Amino acid sequence: MHNKTLAELNLGLQAKKFSSVELTQFFLNRIDKHIQLNAYITVTPELALAQAKAADQRLAKGTSDLLTGIPIAQKDIFCTHGVVTTCGSKMLANFTAPYNATVVEKFNQSGAVMLGKLNMDEFAMGSSNETSYYGAVKNPWDINTVPGGSSGGSAAAVSARLAACATGTDTGGSIRQPAALCGITGLKPTYGRVSRYGMIAYASSLDQGGPMTRSAEDAAIMLQTMAGFDEKDSTSVNLPVPDYRADLNKSLVGLKIGLPKEFFGEGLNEDVAKTLALAIDEYRKLGAEIVDISMPNLKLAIPAYYVIAPAECSANLSRFDGVRYGYRCESPVDLTDLYTRSRGEGFGKEVKRRILMGTYALSTGYYDAYYLKAQKIRRLISEDFKTALASVDVIMGPVTPSTAFGIGEKMDDPIAMYLSDIYTIAINLAGVPAMSIPAGFVAGMPVGLQLIGDYFSEDRLLNIAHQYQQVTDWHNFIPTGFE
Ligand code: GLN
Repeated sequence: MHNKTLAELNLGLQAKKFSSVELTQFFLNRIDKHIQLNAYITVTPELALAQAKAADQRLAKGTSDLLTGIPIAQKDIFCTHGVVTTCGSKMLANFTAPYNATVVEKFNQSGAVMLGKLNMDEFAMGSSNETSYYGAVKNPWDINTVPGGSSGGSAAAVSARLAACATGTDTGGSIRQPAALCGITGLKPTYGRVSRYGMIAYASSLDQGGPMTRSAEDAAIMLQTMAGFDEKDSTSVNLPVPDYRADLNKSLVGLKIGLPKEFFGEGLNEDVAKTLALAIDEYRKLGAEIVDISMPNLKLAIPAYYVIAPAECSANLSRFDGVRYGYRCESPVDLTDLYTRSRGEGFGKEVKRRILMGTYALSTGYYDAYYLKAQKIRRLISEDFKTALASVDVIMGPVTPSTAFGIGEKMDDPIAMYLSDIYTIAINLAGVPAMSIPAGFVAGMPVGLQLIGDYFSEDRLLNIAHQYQQVTDWHNFIPTGFE
């Protein structure tokens, strides 16, 4: 049952081949069996089985939706009414949200079953899932390596079949990078396509939730539920949501693919580059035309991001002060002691590093030199995408410079860690949508191919990804031990 796609699960449920309760229990057993991956922070068996029972009733009545009765899991950054939401932090270890994130609400309305909350880097800051207060997540393809981050629990869970699909969020690569390292399909939608209401903020102008699935078709099904205008999120965009499955089978003859030379230079592992070249060849066979392009400002993405994201996070995380909710230190002597010790004890090292960097960049005297400058670079990067996407339909490139690295390998070297997002970060600065799709293996470890499109072209990206998945099998591979 765990190898069925969302569409297949839906058919099985409709045809009463199995019930949602059976399916849910099946996934709960798998989660138990593979607990060593540490993919979940919280498992909610009672809630899941209650939701499954309700889903079975809905299926019997014939009022079901595509996801009714299907067991999914939420990244622990989405607030869930009555279920603890930690955001991977000690700061929120005791936080039970009094409301649902819009995304969670939408899945509830569709009748999906929530198996639990997935592990992640603390406040989504990281590229390896090692900054989580709840411990590192292991990559199902090799448990000595990282699954990527920050949505590492989501990627590991989908790859190991511990959920039929999962949500993720992507501020600088956190859907695509772990999707690539765990061999699954991940889509970061256009900024504003999916509501951020109830999604704990890291860097508000960059954060975007999206689907993490096994295939592009599954991603289309999930995005259908997630996307749409939300009056509770002032940055959500009021545009109609297309039928994301309608054009999956459109031919790619004449598709123009741009390959930015900046994506294929120094720093990219040679074997990864060879694997990607084969994937591009597949597209050529599907009738696409390949064009070399240049995006000169891409190299400025990492420095600009590591000013903008920390600046926004320093403001967003100021609400965690030990007064209103979250962790509070023992016996504070006065208000300053309460603030400093609650924050000092509640946040981990990487989060503190970001708050310090961000506060510095925003301080009087440095604001112009760092923050303003970074915003100007952000504009230049957006212009690069605009220019490139005026001449090609889609940009392709790597997602990560190498396959998954070892647990512990980069923890003492933040710059090396930051560089693992070198191919994903510019996309968030521009706000365009992008996907990672499984494109092969190097020494048994998955490699992802990145597809980047114009604003609100998710349907086109899904079509481009789906066509590739019709002629390749990489997305169907299962890590050994999880068959
Ligand atoms: N690794 C990047 C960071 O730590 C991106 C994380 C994300 O997309 N949430 O900021």
